[in-house]
Amino acid sequence: MLEIKNLSIAYNDRPAVEDVSFTVQAGETVSIVGESGSGKSTILRAVQGLLGREGSVIGGSVEFDGVSLLDLSKEEMRRYRGAVIATVPQQAGQSMDPITRIGRQFHEAILTKRKITRSESDSLAAECMRSLSIKEPEKILNSYPAMLSGGTNQRVALAMAMVMEPRLILADEPTSALDVTVQVEVVEAMLALKRQCDAAILMVTHNMGVVAQMSDHVGVMYNGRLLEWGTREEILEDPRHPYTRALTASGLRMDGTLPKVKTIYRENVGGSCVYYARCPYASEECRTSPEMSTDGGHAVMCRHPQEGAAHE
Ligand code: ADP
Ligand code: MG
Repeated sequence: MLEIKNLSIAYNDRPAVEDVSFTVQAGETVSIVGESGSGKSTILRAVQGLLGREGSVIGGSVEFDGVSLLDLSKEEMRRYRGAVIATVPQQAGQSMDPITRIGRQFHEAILTKRKITRSESDSLAAECMRSLSIKEPEKILNSYPAMLSGGTNQRVALAMAMVMEPRLILADEPTSALDVTVQVEVVEAMLALKRQCDAAILMVTHNMGVVAQMSDHVGVMYNGRLLEWGTREEILEDPRHPYTRALTASGLRMDGTLPKVKTIYRENVGGSCVYYARCPYASEECRTSPEMSTDGGHAVMCRHPQEGAAHE
């Protein structure tokens, strides 16, 4: 359904995403993981046509059911974002309009897609919230975002995405701004969303627990590159790239567990593998001509994919 091919993106001529390809099938959940600055959000922004003035696509394509999203006009893209592609931000409380009650925000969102009265939209919104186990939806409809907790706002944003009946939901770190205890509620709401809505979900996350609970496919990003791609089982139980193996070994939260070495790549990587400087298996060829290896649908951007007992 969503096909990203050889996508390269730069901000003011500085590469942020390079030659990334993957697909999202209808109804499936794809998680993109990788440390901060690896280009995950940039990919989501490109899919929404929201790269901003500094960002530009310098190569590749993004197709949604055969339609090239990169070639749509601003107006057409806005229509897609309302009707077909919904988003769940990292901190919904801050992205929602602070001076408009939640009920009216639901109503305005649905109105961009079809005619609906306020009372119809209220009952639809309440029904969606209830199906995500959000308590007292009527009270929430009457509230402003600032009156609700971060976790509740986040779950309300999931309900808002759901009510739009999108084909694709983009979620950028939907749990990472929350306390661990609240994250559990949001993850449960996401699982309910996935069960009840046949939309595909493309999610960026730092939380390997979330990846394990709800992904069908997983992509691992590092310094602008997709280093490994496979099914959830392939990535979590049979990681092949040395970076993926380090990530999966580092457990639930990977943010901050690995040293940041972004500058090494940005300043002097040349044509080398982006993981060269950190890789215990790097050979001379990795510096001069990195290569992808594949095993069925399991793709690894590595000349020396590791097998067998993970987490050495
Ligand atoms: P992630 O979501 O994986 O943390 P991002 O996609 O936000 O990473 O960023 C990828 C790279 O692009 C980073 O080096 C970041 O500094 C840079 N970047 C992101 N947004 C902008 C912007 N608006 N202007 C300039 N550089 C940006
Ligand atoms: Mg990000």
